[in-house]
Amino acid sequence: MSATPAGELDPAEIVGHFINNAEVADDNRPLPVSNPATGRTVRHVAMASRRTVEEAITAAQAAFPAWRNTPAAKRARVMFRFKELLERHAEEICAALTEEHGKVFDDAMGEFGRGVEVVDYACGIPELLKGEYSRNVGPGIDSWSDFQPLGVVAGITPFNFPAMVPMWMYPIAIACGNTFVLKPSEKDPTAPLICARLLREAGLPDGVFNVVNGDKEAVDTLLHDDRVQAVSFVGSTPVAEYIYSTGTANGKRVQALGGAKNHAVVMPDADVGNAVSALMGAAFGSCGERCMAISVAVCVGDEVGDEVVAKLSEQIGDLRVGDGMDTSSQMGPLVTKDHFDKVRAYVDLGVEEGANLVCDGRALVVEGREEGFFLGPCLFDGVTTDMRIYKEEIFGPVLCVVRAESEEQAVQMIDGHEYGNGTCIFTRDGEAARYFADNVDVGMVGINVPLPVPVAYHSFGGWKRSLFGDLFAYGPDGVRFYTRRKTITQRWPSGGVREKAQFSFPGRQ
Ligand code: NAD
Repeated sequence: MSATPAGELDPAEIVGHFINNAEVADDNRPLPVSNPATGRTVRHVAMASRRTVEEAITAAQAAFPAWRNTPAAKRARVMFRFKELLERHAEEICAALTEEHGKVFDDAMGEFGRGVEVVDYACGIPELLKGEYSRNVGPGIDSWSDFQPLGVVAGITPFNFPAMVPMWMYPIAIACGNTFVLKPSEKDPTAPLICARLLREAGLPDGVFNVVNGDKEAVDTLLHDDRVQAVSFVGSTPVAEYIYSTGTANGKRVQALGGAKNHAVVMPDADVGNAVSALMGAAFGSCGERCMAISVAVCVGDEVGDEVVAKLSEQIGDLRVGDGMDTSSQMGPLVTKDHFDKVRAYVDLGVEEGANLVCDGRALVVEGREEGFFLGPCLFDGVTTDMRIYKEEIFGPVLCVVRAESEEQAVQMIDGHEYGNGTCIFTRDGEAARYFADNVDVGMVGINVPLPVPVAYHSFGGWKRSLFGDLFAYGPDGVRFYTRRKTITQRWPSGGVREKAQFSFPGRQ
């Protein structure tokens, strides 16, 4: 792929693959990649054949023995250089994110920054891999646990965070001594490829990090190849469940993060003005295409409900929707025409189901960008838990308001939902906040924090059908996921002393 500067587009350009530190062309079934703000094809992406994916796995397998034996401090030095290069290339990467995903440039910089934080964390790998040691567990016997890399591991990632979500995976996996094959989203493939080039520039040896673009054929090859030891997946719940069941049936370690429907509870004592500002950003930032987006506001009591709806309607009227490269835009388009059609159909459905569409973004036209996939922010009031717009993940700029009579009822509602990714509560009451955090069946909880995305040195994951597998992504769980514990017990008997066979199980000594 050539580094065509923004503004000089070549739709015939094909984003290929990155194997053994080299860009590999594969003109097998190229798919168009569009700029969602203009609706125009900006380039194509090659869909890898099974053979190409196997080539990437072979490269990763060949690189593993030397990389696993490279001292952790030396692996960390590659991460330090990678981080520097990422920061130097931030604008180029974020422009690619905006061009292919549609999110506004500042939001792309935010995503990118959170990804780089995981690289920071991976720079500390010698400390993180230190293991555990016990001296004299028996007479003259010492024991220790070592955390060893798994081998070739794969990552399969979604369209909505094309730079950050892959960075949840490969910096830690590689720093732990594994080799990696990434299968990014086919909708916005450029950022991961730029990162691959930067890892090469940072000194990463051939074959340690590979990228294959593709679809189900590529994913199935990764899931069925015995050389792949583990798979990290982030995407929608039906695919996450498929990846988990197929990967584990094939003997792999799998973590598969799925979809979400995140509720924000607004208590009667909340600072409603601030809660509404927080809801605006969390519901409509990135056009609602975030797995941590707030898509349901649960208002406790009608008084607060009416106030929240009135204030939201006012602020929605002022929200500036436009091309993500326009610095005045606060919200960009949806990622593809298909996704636009799907989200719009959900708004039609909400009306049919009897919810009250207080703000209707369906008629929005952005001047000069008439072919873009823009949908204005939509607000539904009077939503009930039996409606499909409440039950299903819409993944667009659609906020549903439901009413509850008490905090307990709000918690029961959240617990009854199939997803359990993130949630938050707006309140000034410490007791209510503590009850919420203690009791709600959700993996990530915010208290007056609308998007409680854990920092890189904690771990990210949901509960219920938002995560299949035992370990969260990145942070300490990431290190555990990409390593296997080995426990070694050692003694050095004195020379010349004849030892008797012991037939009883070694007990307390
Ligand atoms: P998706 O499930 O359609 O695709 C994710 C990845 O799986 C892509 O690489 C895609 O090529 C591949 N894929 C798609 N269909 C497949 C199939 N049938 N078999 C094998 N592989 C397949 O998800 P998306 O639309 O790219 O992303 C949006 C979804 O991701 C939303 O549901 C969102 O909630 C979720 N998401 C979750 C998290 C989280 O941390 N829980 C984070 C980001 C996004």
